[in-house]
Amino acid sequence: MRKELAECLKEFFPIFSRAAKDGPFEARGFECDEGWYTILDRFGRDLTLLRLRGIKVVQIKQGLGGLRITLRYPFWLSKKKIEKAESVVLDAELASYKTCEACGGRGCRRELTDRTIIRCDMCFKSEPRP
Ligand SMILES: [Zn+2]
Repeated sequence: MRKELAECLKEFFPIFSRAAKDGPFEARGFECDEGWYTILDRFGRDLTLLRLRGIKVVQIKQGLGGLRITLRYPFWLSKKKIEKAESVVLDAELASYKTCEACGGRGCRRELTDRTIIRCDMCFKSEPRP
């Protein structure tokens, strides 16, 4: 993801500035392409609306085709609140399976010889192959 877009997400939603110091997000940031920007924008908004404190981002990446978001919760957060946050995570992850990671258009799961990706028809045709 381009630096400007990552900066926008961090500016709009405080959760993206709360990285777990020992997690990959601290060093590598968003490990996915910008087609998923709108999904992360919605994720940031929905999580902010829950008004939960103490949550940190461990990792946000593409894995096995889809978006993977790993959060860390403080020990004092109730199970009910954690479930609400995990539901927001799940919504984002499920949305990624229908969204082209390259352009944000309607995509689906595609198998390459070395990996699985989510792409629309156009982006899949232009995807570099090994
Ligand atoms: Zn596309």
